[in-house]
Amino acid sequence: MSGFRHVAIIGLGLLGGSIGLAVREFLPGVVSTGYDADPAARQRAAERGLTGMVCASAAEAVAGADLVILCVPVGAMGAAAAEIAGALAPGAVVSDVGSSKRTVAEALAAALPGAAIIPAHPVAGTEHSGPDAGFAALFRKRWCIITPPDNADPAQVAALTAFWEALGAKVETMSAGHHDLVLAVTSHLPHLIAYTIVGTASDLEEVTRGEVIKYSAGGFRDFTRIAASDPTMWRDVFLSNRDAVLEMLDTFSADLDALRTAIVSRDGDALFEHFTRTRAIRRSIIAEGQDDARPDFGRSDHAGG
Ligand code: NAP
Repeated sequence: MSGFRHVAIIGLGLLGGSIGLAVREFLPGVVSTGYDADPAARQRAAERGLTGMVCASAAEAVAGADLVILCVPVGAMGAAAAEIAGALAPGAVVSDVGSSKRTVAEALAAALPGAAIIPAHPVAGTEHSGPDAGFAALFRKRWCIITPPDNADPAQVAALTAFWEALGAKVETMSAGHHDLVLAVTSHLPHLIAYTIVGTASDLEEVTRGEVIKYSAGGFRDFTRIAASDPTMWRDVFLSNRDAVLEMLDTFSADLDALRTAIVSRDGDALFEHFTRTRAIRRSIIAEGQDDARPDFGRSDHAGG
């Protein structure tokens, strides 16, 4: 049990909907209310029962809540927070699920002066979005990174930790700046590469679109899945985590150049050594239970490649 009695969720898409469903399943005694700016999403959220009640305004949804979780795109966090300012119950904890943390923490602090703000990022998601995309098991065995400000109340951090653990997540605490650097390399840069390579392949004149689709099992298919992720979300992630992404992009470009040089100079040893090192990283990810060791991630239609 997390100690929270009423959770308000603002933004009822993939993340908000999944939290709502997980609360209903794993914390059945906790009251849940929700709001989404999109009327069609509100209607769908009510039909799916994503929260116990779907409200007509953000202020109505947060009234009486002791935990408020903002589940809107990173670029909309400040506006969503401004909408609930003045409606928060005294002592309520305000958290979020944004994929970058430093700029979100600043936006929340500016919009909600004096509020107990404890940002978080569940490192769990899919390429789908909207109120139909959520499911209760999304956070099971996934990490949730909490980035409390220096003056955060330890009891509130502990309560938020217990909340995420009740939803099935493993919780880690770190500074917002460190989170942004880690996620730049583990999530943001891979998405940028996927967006690039899928665009590059589809622009090639000597390879037809039909061939790109037909032979996509050769590694390309996994890039297309990532590159299908929500454009609004990812635009906001790159703009908000700009500094860390640019730092990692520079390092990546230098490493890519080194591999290019190895190919140009036919340096098989350098390529072999690099690929051996990366294979060991993949094996450690599987050993930590963060992915599936089966060929092609256990897809039944494994086509090799
Ligand atoms: P989503 O499925 O698109 O849902 C976001 C919802 O918030 C949309 O229905 C959107 O409506 C609504 N919204 C936008 N501004 C709002 C406002 N001011 N007040 C109330 N509702 C508002 O997005 P998501 O994938 O759940 O992502 C939500 C957050 O989770 C983002 O910050 C993202 O960085 C983070 N996150 C995502 C993933 C992932 O894999 N998707 C993983 C971890 C964390 P409109 O469509 O009308 O704008």
